[in-house]
Amino acid sequence: MIIKPKIRGFVCITSHPEGCAAHVQEQIDYVKSKGPIDGAKNVLIIGASQGYGLASRITAAFGSQASTIGVFFEREPANGRTATSGYYNTIAFTEKARAEGLYAANFNGDAFSDEIKEAVIHKVKEDLGKIDLIIYSLGSPRRIHPETGAVHKSVIKPIGQTFTGKTVDTDKDIISDITIEAATDEEIADTVAVMGGDDWERWIKALDHAGLIDEGATSVAYDYIGPEVTWPIYTNGTIGSAKKDLRAAAKRIDALLKNHHGSAFISVNKALVTQSSSAIPVVPLYISILYKVMKEKGLHEGCIEQIDRLFRTQLFSGTALVFDDEGRARIDNLEMKSEVQSAVAEIWPEITTENLYEKSDMAGYKKEFLRLFGFGLSGVNYDADVDEAIMLKE
Ligand code: NAD
Repeated sequence: MIIKPKIRGFVCITSHPEGCAAHVQEQIDYVKSKGPIDGAKNVLIIGASQGYGLASRITAAFGSQASTIGVFFEREPANGRTATSGYYNTIAFTEKARAEGLYAANFNGDAFSDEIKEAVIHKVKEDLGKIDLIIYSLGSPRRIHPETGAVHKSVIKPIGQTFTGKTVDTDKDIISDITIEAATDEEIADTVAVMGGDDWERWIKALDHAGLIDEGATSVAYDYIGPEVTWPIYTNGTIGSAKKDLRAAAKRIDALLKNHHGSAFISVNKALVTQSSSAIPVVPLYISILYKVMKEKGLHEGCIEQIDRLFRTQLFSGTALVFDDEGRARIDNLEMKSEVQSAVAEIWPEITTENLYEKSDMAGYKKEFLRLFGFGLSGVNYDADVDEAIMLKE
């Protein structure tokens, strides 16, 4: 089938298997170009098929020759519909890892469920023995609670008061004001249930209970802070509440891993175009201005550059880890530089529909968005017939 992008709002409902493979290859090439990392050997990545989780898996495998187990939730190809890009990314990753003699196992299912945890535990026991790095990188809109069966849906809303601010419709290139009502207490609790730390802690406890945590094991989850313009909708909103909960879980998980002379921490990452971030109002406009500023200053990084840096300078640097006063690794340090933030703040009030492409890197944002689905990669012939029905092998 000849596959072209079909964008609906902030998602693209098609994805290109060869383009996704090229995207994965680019990330592998980047990590390899930086040389080996003396890092973890048996790595579990929860949320392994896209964005920061995929970059983490690639860095562990191709930087440290690690055996990796990836957990993700992606749609297979069926009835002439393409798979989701994370599915094709995982096929490509797995083929490329195995071609280099690296172990890679995959679990496509609901990470929040007890069933997936049990299946992963069984696999670790069978194939790896113990795990020495657990990356928690889920971006999910809902969670079925494993004990109550309740369905929690996360919402992106302010807390305490209605928010009105600038946002961009990335489909129509229109800047407008968006007004979002404050979340109810139930919506806050639901968002915390989905994106907070409970599931991360359940994973670590389950692995510990099964005796699968290695001596000195580390676990990391990802967080975002960003500039004040996004705070009402992010840091001080429902998702920020979930992240507070994630930070509290990090402290408990750290205490648990200390029993194995290990540790857990939060890494605060840069705002980047991913399928999760493109769904958040205000954030895509901020990202497109940020990209312009950071590219002009030669400071721009994507997921793979961020995670490669996290592994080399924080996780496995051989020197003391550098944390902020709340104990978080700050690989968002370049985004948060005052020269970057003041340049963004200068552009923010001036940006309009008319000057969108001049004042921001909306063109770069869109290119990056399409690349998430395997479109716009060099060396891929998008007019050629490709097999969309490829399946992930055991
Ligand atoms: P993403 O949308 O690119 O990837 C999400 C991953 O979660 C995918 O692998 C998906 O398959 C998996 N997933 C979703 N629901 C699942 C489920 N029920 N079971 C199993 N797997 C499931 O997301 P991302 O932007 O890379 O975000 C990952 C983490 O990084 C999040 O915690 C996010 O808050 C954080 N973060 C993101 C940004 C950003 O700008 N994108 C910045 C800083 C921190």
